[in-house]
Formats: sequence, structure tokens, C-alpha cells
Amino acid sequence: MIEILPQVTTKYSLDYYSTDPIFFAPVSELRYEAKSIVAKLRGRTIWMVNSTAHGGGVAEMLPSVISLMNNLGIRFRWAVIRSDRQEFFRLTKRIHNLIHGDTASGIEMGPEDAKLYEAVNFENAASFKKELKPDDILIIHDPQPLPLGQVLLRELGVTAIWQCHIGLDRHLEATKTAWRFLKPYLDGYHHTIFSASEYIPDYCAYRSTIIHPAIDPLSHKNQELSVSKLTGILCNSGLQAPYEPVVTPNYRNRVTMLTEDGSYVLPNHLGLLFRPIVLQVSRWDRLKGWSPLLEGFVRLKNSVIANNGNNKTQRKQKRIELARLVLAGPDPSAVADDPESMEVLHQIQQQYASLDPKLQRDIAIILLPMKSYKENALIVNALQRCAGIIVQNSLQEGFGLTVTEAMWKRKAVLGTTACGIRRQVRDGIDGLLVSDPENPVEIAEKLGMLLNNSIRCYNMGRSGQRRVYDQFLIFRQMSNYLRLLGKLI
Ligand code: UDP
Repeated sequence: MIEILPQVTTKYSLDYYSTDPIFFAPVSELRYEAKSIVAKLRGRTIWMVNSTAHGGGVAEMLPSVISLMNNLGIRFRWAVIRSDRQEFFRLTKRIHNLIHGDTASGIEMGPEDAKLYEAVNFENAASFKKELKPDDILIIHDPQPLPLGQVLLRELGVTAIWQCHIGLDRHLEATKTAWRFLKPYLDGYHHTIFSASEYIPDYCAYRSTIIHPAIDPLSHKNQELSVSKLTGILCNSGLQAPYEPVVTPNYRNRVTMLTEDGSYVLPNHLGLLFRPIVLQVSRWDRLKGWSPLLEGFVRLKNSVIANNGNNKTQRKQKRIELARLVLAGPDPSAVADDPESMEVLHQIQQQYASLDPKLQRDIAIILLPMKSYKENALIVNALQRCAGIIVQNSLQEGFGLTVTEAMWKRKAVLGTTACGIRRQVRDGIDGLLVSDPENPVEIAEKLGMLLNNSIRCYNMGRSGQRRVYDQFLIFRQMSNYLRLLGKLI
């Protein structure tokens, strides 16, 4: 049964953004764009439909877009499809993997899959119908709820747009299988949105627009944090033991960290405020490249141990010696639509368990509580601000909001040449890109280059932030949605 989420209102209004000299110009442009379209959309509701309210890039973006669109006078709502059938999410995860060219969870897509896919979507569509009017517009996100949009556009005459946040810039057997499977469900859709032109399947080419995902610079995830607020978050969440009293109370759900014996404890002493931190925050998904990143970091550490004393300067050596890798992801029990996450986490745990105890102490695998959206976002924000280098070692990446978030916070990024990441990070300008994310040698080498050059990192951070300001802030994304909606009605 579909869940209609309560109306989302984020903390700041559009007026508030425009009183900030930094955001005045982009908000003015957005308002100008909206002028003619607001009247056309009067009386209609635009429904954002996806498959989870928490975790992942889509759930991350929707609250701010919905809230600020309502500020502009356009009624946006959010609905989430639900199912108790875990096999449905395993199926949609397989589709997700195939679209990324990954066959690890199977390559076959057959009539039984179609039956399950339709059954769950039809149930959700049936309960959604009573909320809709024929004038309404659906923006259906990603493959999970795709058939639902088709049912509703046929039965009620609503306008339906499909926005696909994932894709691969190559055509492989796996990607072809996935797109063949999805094709019949796209019949009748009025338009599609992709994050890059490379991702668009032929049969959508005539009805497609590119809209890049974007971040809200004042959200809990991206707002500036004062030093006391930052340390407060670290202490409240269990990432740092307080050695002075802290104003705010501890979070009810706190961060946990994997220990050498396989249990999880409160981290408390990660050295986030002291040590050079190399951070990756992502879902526990194989395609995020966790395992080779871990191996690359171990290699970097071992290179120092092996060359003890031969490094150019003591300080450079010390920086690598003290560097700590923090691998952070959601507590897997909390992410409804990602059944593989437990397995991936388990593999990383095993890899960690096989390391020398000295190396284990330089690596922290932490689980972030997801029960409170706000607390989770603040924890990610604080972690990203403590990091010296932010890594996104994705094998494939539709876009990679974690990269946008890192650039906005002026961090040097170690990314990969996956399509979504290379669209954001210019190699050598905003960060470095590894050409093979499964090659620990290359990862170690580029991590070392960044760790050893703080001035270069500073300059990369500066230009990264500028790039996000120009291209990937929410105001631009909203203008793009409005332009498209204006065209379609
Ligand atoms: N994220 C989070 N908590 C976590 C892991 C990830 O809030 O424990 C957020 C992360 O900050 C980013 C989003 O989830 O905003 C992930 O989006 P991205 O586009 O990087 O990847 P996706 O999950 O959509 O593949």
C-alpha cells in the first residue's frame, strides 16, 4: 500500500535563501523562471513517487525540492511505494545492478519477474488512485515504481514523467537486458529525465531531458557548522567522547563501530578532530568500491611501514602514518529497498577481520543510525567536515551526491571515472580520479598524492565549491523541473 508522506517543510523558506548574498542571484533566476509557470500549474498536484523515504540520493534530494516548490506556490507531495515482499526489492535491486552493468545478482529477467514487479506496483497504484486527480502530474523516480505510473496514466489520464537516476555510459548485455525488461512499462509515459545523455535508452531519446541532481546548501547535510556545533554532533552521536560538558543531549540512536572481534561498539575515539581523515560515506553497495578502497588504504599504510624513514620529509610520513580511513554507511537494518547491503557489509567486515591489528586501528567501519533523518544528516555533515580527503570509489555511479556534498564543503575528492563522478569532478582541478576503481595500487598512489599535498587539496576544494555553486545547487535543478513542467502542460 502506498504511503503518502506528510507535507515536507524544510527549515528555511526561499525568502530566507534570497537574503543571503551568496544565494540571491540563483534564487532570483529561479523566481524569474517560475513566474509564468506557477499560474499554469495552479490546482494541480505534482507527486514525487519513489521507494524509500530514507537512504540514498533520491530520498536525500526530495525534501528540499518539495518544500521549496511549495514556497513558490506549486503543490508538490511525496508518496513512497511499500511492500512486505522482500523478493520485490531483490528484483528491483537486480534491475538496478543490471542497469549499472553488474551481473552479480543474476542476468536473467523472465515472466515471473514481470509478474512480481507488476503485482506490487498494481497494489500500490490501487491505493494511490483515490488521492489523484486527472490534472495531477507524477514524477516517478527510478525503476521500482515505474509500472505504477503507467497504470495511473492509463486509468486516470494523469501526466506521468519517469526520472531515472542511474545509468551506464556503455551498452553491455546486462544493460540491454534491463532496458528490454523496462521498455513495456515506459509505454505511454509523457517524458523521461536522466542524469546524463549517455544513459538514455534509444526508445526514450525523443522524450528525454537531462536534469542533474543537486544539493540544498542550507540542509542539515550541507549547512555550515560552527566549531561548537560540530563537536556537539560528534559527541552526541558517539563519534567523540566529550572531554568538556556539551550543551545538547545525546542522540537516542548513536553511531556504532566494528571492533576487531566482530562486535559493534560506540566509537568515541576516532580522532576525527586530530588525524588526517580519509572518508567514504555511501550505501553498503558493492558498486561503491568499498573493498578495493580498503585494500588501497592498507597498501598506502604498508608503503610507509616498508619505507620507514625514507620519505622526503618527516611530516609527510607522519601524515600517512596518522591517516585514518573511515568507512561510513547506513545501519543496514534501516534501508528498506536495499536487501544486499547486509551481505556487502559482511564482506567488508571479513576483509577488515583479516588485517593486522595495527592496521585495523587505522580503519573505522561505522554504521550511522537512520531513525532520525536530521541526526543522520548532521552526522554525515560533521564527518565530511572533519575529513581531509573524501573518497567516492564507485565502480559505477549515476551521479554521486556524496561527491557534490564533498565539493560544496571544499574538500579534495578522490573519485573515479564513473560517468556521474567525472561529470562533477574535473581530474586534477577539483580532485583526482582513479581510472580503475578496482585497482588498489592506483588508489594508494592517488591517496598518497593528495595526503602529501595540502596546498593542492586546498585549491581543489576551492574550485570544487565554485563548480557546485555554478552547476549543482538545488535552485538550478528546480528551474529545470519547472521548465520541463511548463513545456509538458
Ligand atoms: N547517505 C547518508 N547516510 C549514509 C549514507 C549515505 O545520508 O549512511 C547519503 C549521502 O550523504 C548522499 C546519499 O545518501 O546524500 C547518497 O547519494 P548518492 O547519489 O551518492 O548515491 P546513491 O545512494 O543514490 O547511489
